[in-house]
Amino acid sequence: ENIEITKLLSGIIAITEQQAEKKDIEFTATIDDSIYMRADHDRLKQVFINLLNNAINYTPVSGKVELVVKENQEVVEITVSDTGIGIPEEVQNRIFERFYRVDRARSRNTGGTGLGLAIVKHIVEAHKGTIHVESRLDQGSTFRIEIPVSRQV
Ligand code: ATP
Ligand code: MG
Repeated sequence: ENIEITKLLSGIIAITEQQAEKKDIEFTATIDDSIYMRADHDRLKQVFINLLNNAINYTPVSGKVELVVKENQEVVEITVSDTGIGIPEEVQNRIFERFYRVDRARSRNTGGTGLGLAIVKHIVEAHKGTIHVESRLDQGSTFRIEIPVSRQV
């Protein structure tokens, strides 16, 4: 499918704004105009939903969450950053494993299954993309995805 990103994101951004408001989180979304890419619409949507849900869930009240999507030389760059609880350095490579959750005690009340990021990684790789995380405990996290647009001719 040929996807237009602002269109795919409109509903997700509205929902994220509502969730952010409930926690007094400042949410900003900066999306380049007319980014078209070849992708599976529903699965790409799941990538954004999972990353934004995490950013909101793992950020305490009055924090900040930011979504940036831009295109750079036929590559779509998706960045989701937050000022949340962060991820300890030594487990940053494990969070993409199925069912892995950092410190069950601290994430117990968020009631997740530990599948969200495994799904994200799987979808990104199916689109020939990459995902990386940068995070500092108690400072926040940034997830960066790059996917080639592979425009249909
Ligand atoms: P769900 O399957 O409902 O998404 P989950 O959020 O626990 O459950 P993942 O989304 O795969 O599972 O995330 C795995 C773990 O990585 C989380 O349990 C959490 O400990 C950590 N994590 C993910 N995103 C963030 C973030 N933005 N800030 C801090 N920790 C995070
Ligand atoms: Mg999750």
